Amino acid sequence: MPYAASPGIEMARSLLDDVLLCPNLPSLPAVAMEILELTDDPDVPIKKIAEVVQRDQALAGKVLKTVNSSFYGLSKPCASIDRAMALLGMNTVKSLVLGFSLVDATKFAKGSGFDLMAHWRHSIVAATSARLLAERTRMVDADEAFTAGLFQDIGVLACFAAMGERYNMVVGPEPHRRWPALEREAFGFDHMDIGVALAKKWKLPEAIGFGIQGHHNPDKVPAERREIAQIVAIASHIAEALGDPRVPQAAKEAKRLCNKWFNKRAPDMELLLGEVAEAAKTLAKMFDQDIGGLEDPARLLAEAQEKSLEHHLEVQRQAESFQKEANTDGLTGLANRKRFDEELAKAQHRFEQSAEPVAVIFTDADRFKSVNDTYGHAAGDAVLMELALRISQCIGEDGVVCRYGGEEIAVIMPGTGIDKAAIAGEAVRECVAASPFDLSCVDGAPDKLAVTVSVGVAATDGDVPERYQDFKTLLGDADACVYEAKRAGRNRVFVHRPSQERPAAEAPAPRVDGKTPGLRIMLVEDDPLAATLITTLLKRKQDVHIQWIESGTRAKNELAQMDAGAIPPADVFLVDLNLPGVNGFELLRQVRGSKLVADRPFFVLSGEEQSRSRAESLKLGATEFIPKQQFVQNIGQWLGVIMQANAKAA
Ligand code: GH3
Ligand code: MG
Ligand code: MG
Repeated sequence: MPYAASPGIEMARSLLDDVLLCPNLPSLPAVAMEILELTDDPDVPIKKIAEVVQRDQALAGKVLKTVNSSFYGLSKPCASIDRAMALLGMNTVKSLVLGFSLVDATKFAKGSGFDLMAHWRHSIVAATSARLLAERTRMVDADEAFTAGLFQDIGVLACFAAMGERYNMVVGPEPHRRWPALEREAFGFDHMDIGVALAKKWKLPEAIGFGIQGHHNPDKVPAERREIAQIVAIASHIAEALGDPRVPQAAKEAKRLCNKWFNKRAPDMELLLGEVAEAAKTLAKMFDQDIGGLEDPARLLAEAQEKSLEHHLEVQRQAESFQKEANTDGLTGLANRKRFDEELAKAQHRFEQSAEPVAVIFTDADRFKSVNDTYGHAAGDAVLMELALRISQCIGEDGVVCRYGGEEIAVIMPGTGIDKAAIAGEAVRECVAASPFDLSCVDGAPDKLAVTVSVGVAATDGDVPERYQDFKTLLGDADACVYEAKRAGRNRVFVHRPSQERPAAEAPAPRVDGKTPGLRIMLVEDDPLAATLITTLLKRKQDVHIQWIESGTRAKNELAQMDAGAIPPADVFLVDLNLPGVNGFELLRQVRGSKLVADRPFFVLSGEEQSRSRAESLKLGATEFIPKQQFVQNIGQWLGVIMQANAKAA
């Protein structure tokens, strides 16, 4: 199928004829026409063509100069046209003759209001690009690509020759890529239609005609000849990128089309742009054309990449914000249930991969319904928001805080074992109960309202590993602890322990020594007030059996009996350091030197923080040295530590 003008052209036939029949139309010099005619015959001898070129001395000189320029990269200079043809092939010489003829044909436009410099800049850069693209992709003949690139806009020249200022006014102020649309709107045809007609009239090779026809839209060219049009179209984008700062996207577009059309054959656009800019300058000199300055290719692509990076980041930002919205609870801003489930699944995966422990802390606001019922829903909402804030601040980076449901807030703590989780659970309870909530901004609510939460804690190292093959059990354990905490009076922390989980029907297995299960603590404290406080606080939190011994001497006797197996041994020792008579250090030594309780946790309590006593206690093998005040203030946390030490020793 020959190249042809667009189908809708009939309507504009008379104006088109005006252009094509216009006497000012650029024309190819006789020598170029003669060469075109000769090369129609594939068997024409090289000598014959060389003769025609040499007849025009000026033309021959230009061709030789160009052939010897760095553009063609010959290793040895070449002194004659027939030698040039032998070295580079007939087509190269022909393409140069056509090129120089085109220069001649554009002379009419000099100083006539037509931007000749821009035209040549575009043509020369496009021709250079087309040649390099053809060489790299090996899709089409490089000389044909070169000539097609150079001639792609002869239609523009013809339009200007025929219509002058009228044409210039339509396209002049706009970037080249917009011309076809503007032309069709103003005249009913575009410069491709004119270019194709001219190529026919000049009997240019078919490939050049297809290049002209498809240089803005290669799809207009029959599929079997589309490649040359694609090469010229990309070349045209490159020419715009390097020549017209108004279209900074052109470089990126050239790259995109190159990858799309040539796939694996697509050359590296960054490298290509640099080479084109260099070669085009050389060629412009040969063609004696001032093409002005070119854009810096490195900057162009950097900019294009920056733009695409910006775009990429923007898309990512949007996706993240959608994602965040989908994962966030509207009222509290906490992660929502969906996110909770995802985080739990992730934690389970990590647990399976690396046995990294995971803890879950479940909280449920106490008697929350009454807040709604008494002060209204707005007060309830305000309490929920403050709850979310306090718990988030308390947990910080250690876990993901989620609104699990209505007034239930859950925390997933990756990498956290049961003892740390127990401490965190108590910290959560404490941060809520520590001070009343400020509801002064809620109509009808009191300024201050005391709020508490019941807390349940479970972690994967808090029970046998088989139990947590499915993390639903972990959730269930934490939830069950919340229920226990509610039952025990609310505002307290329950930590999941294996013994708690035994089915009710199963009787607690009595131990060999006859001791009942549950933590047995021996508390040695001479101050009855301190002893009562500690006993009450510990019992409120956990099912513990506390044996309080007032004097050091009596404790010494008890220990001796324990060691002799006369009485059941204690699980944990909590011993005041400053006892009259036998002090804490002595009792510690006795325990560590015993047979039956040598490995049991031994906590030294002291009225004050004394670093020497601390060091001495630890040296003697104390599990921890705890200032008494700190102990009673953070009883929940210390209970966690005690339980953990007990579990380890068992
Ligand atoms: P308990 O100490 O046993 O947990 O008592 P409770 O009143 O907290 O327990 P219950 O589960 O019966 O009540 C929960 C209430 O939380 C019921 C529901 O109206 C309220 N609630 C759930 N979601 C919201 C919310 O988004 N805003 C408000 N204001 N109330 C909510
Ligand atoms: Mg509830
Ligand atoms: Mg509740």
